[in-house]
Amino acid sequence: MFDNLSDKLDKALHVLKGHGSITEVNVAETLKEVRRALLDADVNFKTAKEFTNTVKEKALGQNVLTTLQPGQLMVKLVKDELTELMGGETAGINLSGTPTVILMSGLQGSGKTTFSGKLANYLKTKKTKKPLLVACDIYRPAAINQLHVVGDQIGVEVYSEPENKNPVQIAQNAIAHAKQNGFNVVIVDTAGRLAIDEAMMTEISNVHKAINPQETIFVVDAMTGQDAVNTAKAFNERLNFDGVVLTKLDGDTRGGAAISIKSVVDKPIKFIGTGEKMDAIDVFHPARMADRILG
Ligand code: GDP
Repeated sequence: MFDNLSDKLDKALHVLKGHGSITEVNVAETLKEVRRALLDADVNFKTAKEFTNTVKEKALGQNVLTTLQPGQLMVKLVKDELTELMGGETAGINLSGTPTVILMSGLQGSGKTTFSGKLANYLKTKKTKKPLLVACDIYRPAAINQLHVVGDQIGVEVYSEPENKNPVQIAQNAIAHAKQNGFNVVIVDTAGRLAIDEAMMTEISNVHKAINPQETIFVVDAMTGQDAVNTAKAFNERLNFDGVVLTKLDGDTRGGAAISIKSVVDKPIKFIGTGEKMDAIDVFHPARMADRILG
């Protein structure tokens, strides 16, 4: 079995003990292990490099080697920095507005429909809200049916207009329906493509402009690693979204995408998806994710 990062650092620093105070070379060698761990966890190269440079400066300012457990201290330093990099604290969701309008964006297959259901269920049970789900995928009838299945499962109404091919109109009509019928949260699930294309981006930005949501959420599959960063960038340029949802963290990914996305678009990760079931949702905790990434 491989040692975890904590053991590796402890060993590396133990060897260096007795060589006097910590030197830049010592730290650089040790941080190579950190960089390797980050790259293994799918953090992009630039982010990993910047990160280790920051930690290097901090480590040099502390006499790490004279402590009893230098590896532990390095790990703490690394963990604290990683946590900070991912936003430090848990980010909340903005539930202002009557109704609160939440727009889901992301590629097809990222988990938007599933997450729309999970969020509706979460808001209903935890925050005693009355959510309405809206099917705005005008291309795939199966997507509309999927949202209806999800809605039935959690006992949440789903608004759809299968004959209407104008997503802006559907979203606006849904908000009017919500106002008339006492729904205080409207969750708009949109169409996604397998890759970013201009037509999809124009469509979702038109919906975004028309409904002016309190929360625009970017949903991304954590398993897509480096690609997740490029997708996040493209969506952020068009939508200036408010938060990120990382799905499929129940898979074997270490979740490095969390760091890369946060450092590239500087938007908080708000929730994670940890399974296909409706209760497999968790608010994002930066410190827990740092533990997972460090292994
Ligand atoms: P959409 O095209 O973006 O609406 O994506 P879907 O919600 O249809 O999800 C695509 C697939 O990923 C489905 O098979 C979901 O069951 C699955 N899925 C979504 N979220 C998660 C998750 O957190 N964990 C796992 N394991 N599967 C997920």
